[in-house]
Amino acid sequence: MTFTLAIVGRPNVGKSTLFNRLVGKKLALVDDQPGVTRDLREGDARLGDLRFTVIDSAGLEEATDNSLQGRMRRLTERAVEMADVCLFLVDARAGITPSDEVFADILRKKNANVILAANKAEGRAGEGGVLEAYSLGLGDPIRLSAEHGEGLDELYHTLIPISEQFAERAAQDMPDVDVDIEDWDDFEEGDEPPIPMPTDAKPLQIAVVGRPNAGKSTLINKIIGEERLLTGPEAGITRDAISVKTEWDGVPMRIFDTAGMRKKAKVQEKLEKLSVSDGLRAAKFAEVLVVLLDVEIPFEQQDLRIADLAEREGRAVVVAVNKWDLEDEKQEKLKDLREKFERLLPQLRGAPMVTVSAKTGKGLDRLNAAIMKAYEVWNRRVSTSALNRWLVGMLEQHPPPAPQGKRIKMRYMTQVKTRPPQFVVMTSHPDKVPDSYNRYLINGLRADFDMPGTPIRLFLRDQG
Ligand code: GDP
Ligand code: GDP
Repeated sequence: MTFTLAIVGRPNVGKSTLFNRLVGKKLALVDDQPGVTRDLREGDARLGDLRFTVIDSAGLEEATDNSLQGRMRRLTERAVEMADVCLFLVDARAGITPSDEVFADILRKKNANVILAANKAEGRAGEGGVLEAYSLGLGDPIRLSAEHGEGLDELYHTLIPISEQFAERAAQDMPDVDVDIEDWDDFEEGDEPPIPMPTDAKPLQIAVVGRPNAGKSTLINKIIGEERLLTGPEAGITRDAISVKTEWDGVPMRIFDTAGMRKKAKVQEKLEKLSVSDGLRAAKFAEVLVVLLDVEIPFEQQDLRIADLAEREGRAVVVAVNKWDLEDEKQEKLKDLREKFERLLPQLRGAPMVTVSAKTGKGLDRLNAAIMKAYEVWNRRVSTSALNRWLVGMLEQHPPPAPQGKRIKMRYMTQVKTRPPQFVVMTSHPDKVPDSYNRYLINGLRADFDMPGTPIRLFLRDQG
């Protein structure tokens, strides 16, 4: 799976010229004359070693009347809907025009994942326009010259993380149960593969999710305020999300926020304006999800939706209860929260819960530790020999039922995947094994192999 990039922007900024350069053929019509109406066109783009689909939304003459403006808007909206990422072109020579603002608005309303580029930036004539482009509030513009092929390296570097995220997602979306038994790794104790540690180039990706006012922005600002900010804020690395790269307790992390982040960088106020309706999508790109609850109103409907999403997406999860500074009866509150957590968020069973105050920074060290632990567990592989020893014990302690006199025999077990951990048990009559027995095994795995903070998937396969 690759991604789809739409080139959008007002007429004459150079969309088709760029499209041609990326596709490498004269597929799109380039015309100096206004008035040539074209529709969306698609091509296979290459940029370095990247391959993706590109959509050219060029085509409409400068909108002078309402109907044209409407058409231009609809065409752009369609392109945005079809795309994973939008490359928003402005003309560095002309500077920012009211028409550019219209396009920026469309992109904002559609919550598009935007990369901003100032085209025609070759030479000095484009310098002013590049600076003006900051005023759009869409992050740092890439200086581009589609005609002269300049700035493509920067575009390439901007697209790399996006491409990686899509590749990673594609890998994670692979069906789990169709694993050929011949392909299983039966590695033994002592040679568990190491957990991939986050690096500067591949930081740990976390997303802070939660209902509005839970304190997400305060939390992220506190973290990056106290730590070294490596890059960012960057708009639109993922659709609907803004991310920053920072180092938190020595761990390189990319933090996705689903709402405006206020920050020290120059472009802060502008980024804040990026409104986000369905920021939950950021969760898809994260490795660890921090589900932030407000201690005053925990476990709302919205929190349940987030819990469902986290489980479905198979993310490592840490629950953080924020605004802990407001609590007087901490011991009692904690007991109450744990009880409610078990009862109301069964989907997140096994996720660690930590209390924090984003405002004062108290508890952030514990949060970091819980994130690292969840990440480690999410990546962990348990050796086949340990699993099978464990399985024997579990079967002895609580044998599977014998529905209609048929003894269920479980013979062999192995871990087939990580991120999140997935196990396969070879059994007779897999269809007869009750859900409760499945849960017994999953809960046992979690407890005996110490696996908090990750969904565990267990599949039964007929051993014939
Ligand atoms: P579109 O309407 O946005 O698709 O724009 P076109 O690709 O048709 O380009 C409009 C005009 O701008 C054409 O005359 C192009 O040759 C010119 N143009 C495109 N890219 C550049 C560039 O990087 N520098 C300069 N100076 N002109 C460019
Ligand atoms: P977001 O919508 O989730 O990003 O929430 P914000 O970060 O904007 O915070 C919402 C409100 O809660 C703001 O008034 C914050 O000052 C306040 N807030 C956030 N964290 C804490 C905290 O730890 N303690 C207290 N007392 N207030 C907090």
